[in-house]
Amino acid sequence: MGKALIIGCGGVASVAIHKCCQNSEVFEEICIASRTVSKCDELKEKLQGGKTKISTAKVDADNVDELIALINDFKPDVVLNLALPYQDLTIMDACLATKTNYVDTANYEPLDTAKFEYKWQWAYQDKFKEAGITALLGSGFDPGVTGVFSAYAMKHYFDEIHEIDILDCNGGDHGYPFATNFNPEINIREVTANGSYWENGEWIETEPMEIKRVYDFPEVGTKDMYLLHHEELESLALNIKGIKRIRFFMTFGQSYLTHLKCLENVGMTSIEPIEFEGKQIVPLQFLKAVLPDPASLGPRTVGKTNIGCIFKGIKDGEPKTYYVYNVCDHQESYREVGSQAISYTTGVPAMIGAMMLMTGTWKGEGVFNIEQFDPDPFMEALNKWGLPWKEDFNPELVD
Ligand code: NDP
Repeated sequence: MGKALIIGCGGVASVAIHKCCQNSEVFEEICIASRTVSKCDELKEKLQGGKTKISTAKVDADNVDELIALINDFKPDVVLNLALPYQDLTIMDACLATKTNYVDTANYEPLDTAKFEYKWQWAYQDKFKEAGITALLGSGFDPGVTGVFSAYAMKHYFDEIHEIDILDCNGGDHGYPFATNFNPEINIREVTANGSYWENGEWIETEPMEIKRVYDFPEVGTKDMYLLHHEELESLALNIKGIKRIRFFMTFGQSYLTHLKCLENVGMTSIEPIEFEGKQIVPLQFLKAVLPDPASLGPRTVGKTNIGCIFKGIKDGEPKTYYVYNVCDHQESYREVGSQAISYTTGVPAMIGAMMLMTGTWKGEGVFNIEQFDPDPFMEALNKWGLPWKEDFNPELVD
């Protein structure tokens, strides 16, 4: 079918690349390009020999000219951005210059401001439209599948959705007192920021971890979960008509929270550069360097994730509730692609998003959030490619 350029070769990219190779009818050729090309070469070594032709390249994704040269050389149908959120705009610029479709899994964040907002990427709307190309934003799990679940609920089960609670539970245990399941810098920036939720047309801000609930997750069990701000709240608030409240909760264990508080109290989670032995360092980046590499957690993580959405609304004049979720097993993911479930649940939808554009199943000119497209083919692909979902029409609700 076509060619994809995958930028980044970390935890999420590794899963997406495995999945592209399993889906060789669509991904006939891929190029893995990242800052550290040896990682790309190692993965190529492991995966080549199948039907998907693999090449690698070194690229600095902060450099638009380098990106343009790479895209012009490889001529992909889609660029799948699985580097860090800081690179979103440079990669979008290169896609514009070369008229190439773009997919990512996380919204742009400036390095010096820990704040998720779509405004920078939404500002590309007219330019992408004029260029006649598509940008698909947020094709991971959350954001990503959570937006697809919302579009699916709206299409099939509700006349109006009034409330959405997104519940992200990681019931996995890696045996370390403290480690993060994906890029530590991104993860810690997310959880130390103020929380917020959307209610009656406005944002309500909370202190970090201020709102706690307990939920009994199917196939995982009872966990503490905390309200966080999360990027899909912003787009769902716009795209799900009639919505009155959207909240996002993530589970955290006590050991994780205690360590995080201590690291925060001593200043290790700060993104303000400090002078150390004549050199400027960012404490959070130093912390990342001493924490376990998320990729190394795969073999030692046991248990399951459960991520899904609970909807409350109206159908045919009657109140209705609906819960749709995926359960993913860390060890099964590891056996299949050599990564734990957090990378797996992000990498699979990233591959599917790229596939939707490569096959022309999803078409559009401009910048789109995932819930703006027809959810049905994506939902079908989730079942086929390793993230089957389950439904409950009488779920336990979150107060
Ligand atoms: P990793 O840190 O494991 O991987 C990031 C990769 O990007 C590395 O290969 C890194 O290279 C590369 N990279 C970083 N900077 C540059 C650059 N300037 N030029 C070229 N390559 C670069 O991160 P993850 O795989 O955990 O996360 C990838 C993305 O997925 C992030 O944007 C994250 O926010 C997002 N994500 C989304 C989720 C969702 O559900 N929507 C959930 C989890 C993650 P090097 O090897 O040299 O460090």
